Amino acid sequence: MTLTNWSGNTEFRATRLHHPTSLDELQRLVAATPRVRALGSAHSFNDVADTPGELVRLDRMPYRIEIDGAAARVRVGASTTYARLAAELHAQGLALGNLASLPHISVAGSVATGTHGSGPGNQSLSAAVSALELVTADGSLITLDRGDADFPGAVVSLGALGIVTTLTLDLVPAFELRQYVREGVPDDAPFDELMGDGHSVSLFTDWHDTRAWIKRRTPLPEGDWHGTRAADGPRHPVPGMPPDSCTEQLGVPGPWHERLPHFRADSPPSSAGDELQTEFVMDREHAAGALRELRAVRDRIRPVLQITEVRTVAADDLWLSPFYGRDSVAVHFTWIRDTEAVLPVVRLVEDVLAPFDPRPHWGKVFTRWPSCPDRFRELVGRYDPRGKFAGDFTRLLLGE
Ligand SMILES: Cc1cc2nc3c(=O)[nH]c(=O)nc-3n(C[C@H](O)[C@H](O)[C@H](O)COP(=O)(O)OP(=O)(O)OC[C@H]3O[C@@H](n4cnc5c(N)ncnc54)[C@H](O)[C@@H]3O)c2cc1C
Repeated sequence: MTLTNWSGNTEFRATRLHHPTSLDELQRLVAATPRVRALGSAHSFNDVADTPGELVRLDRMPYRIEIDGAAARVRVGASTTYARLAAELHAQGLALGNLASLPHISVAGSVATGTHGSGPGNQSLSAAVSALELVTADGSLITLDRGDADFPGAVVSLGALGIVTTLTLDLVPAFELRQYVREGVPDDAPFDELMGDGHSVSLFTDWHDTRAWIKRRTPLPEGDWHGTRAADGPRHPVPGMPPDSCTEQLGVPGPWHERLPHFRADSPPSSAGDELQTEFVMDREHAAGALRELRAVRDRIRPVLQITEVRTVAADDLWLSPFYGRDSVAVHFTWIRDTEAVLPVVRLVEDVLAPFDPRPHWGKVFTRWPSCPDRFRELVGRYDPRGKFAGDFTRLLLGE
């Protein structure tokens, strides 16, 4: 079996891929298999999902999307994509508070790595989880709710505690957004003001020219916006790529789930996999300093860069979340798909950002491992004493 991640830069070691069709089958499989992990939609850019044993994908499990409008929550099967979920929620007049740049990814896989969008008031997608069910090492099914002692360690847990079967997510009423692209953002534009001027604002920069993607509930007021000019047509975040795969821009109002992601659900996102990605998360108070230091080494970044995206994310209390306890700035790099050329530049970026205590995005390329919280190590020891759910990636995290 040859299985790779979406971008093809990681070939998995796993020897088999199972698609269980019932909870009972999954529980028996987990109990009987010495080394097993779950695979979501395989969009991570590293081996976070891999195992030397066997993988399970829950895409044939019989879960439905169960919406409880009165309680403003939804229970979904782990492999449900945000694209599918969002369309059903919107049809019922409901929404998620935020989305990532693409809707193609599975809920469980996204939540397990702390996936996020942008907006100073918006937390990561993981923070919307209020409960999860998981099959643990002996095959039993347990439920963890917000408020349970283990819950903050179990949401962003990189698949290390077991196979998540369902997640319950917080909802808000459906809303409309308008998306605008503004060009020529000055380097000295006031960061917090810029990033707070909409539900979700992203800056895309090649470290010479910077554009802003602004997603707002209300029209962008006529006139000057921080010294920028309006794009004269739709844009793709990666310069030179056609904008057909992007969600509608130019201020046309539309449903939240067709504006929050940069990329349309029915098209390949970003550079269609001809790319690697890296992202580091710092306390938002370091935004200006971190951007200044990166600008100083832009001549070494640019030869392997397709585009950088800068976002803001609100703090959460999930132990392994990159946003744990810090209102954050996230600096992302879409690189060319050449690992050998890119890795030295990733190390350079890690060196440059080191004074700002950066945390890596778990699903992207990085080389420096942050220290693992002791209470997460204790949790893994308790849930998985024999290392059934361990992979090379989680062993490195746990320092084993
Ligand atoms: C084009 C592109 C754009 C992206 N944009 C963003 C972005 O805007 N914001 C952002 O934060 N990230 C972004 N990412 C990264 C992406 O969101 C993460 O890598 C995410 O984890 C992918 O979800 P997945 O379903 O593919 O998970 P996978 O890569 O399949 O798995 C990720 C982790 O989840 C675990 N997992 C999956 N399913 C289960 C389960 N049922 N039970 C237990 N553990 C499970 C796996 O074991 C693994 O540890 C982007 C990636 C791509 C390719």
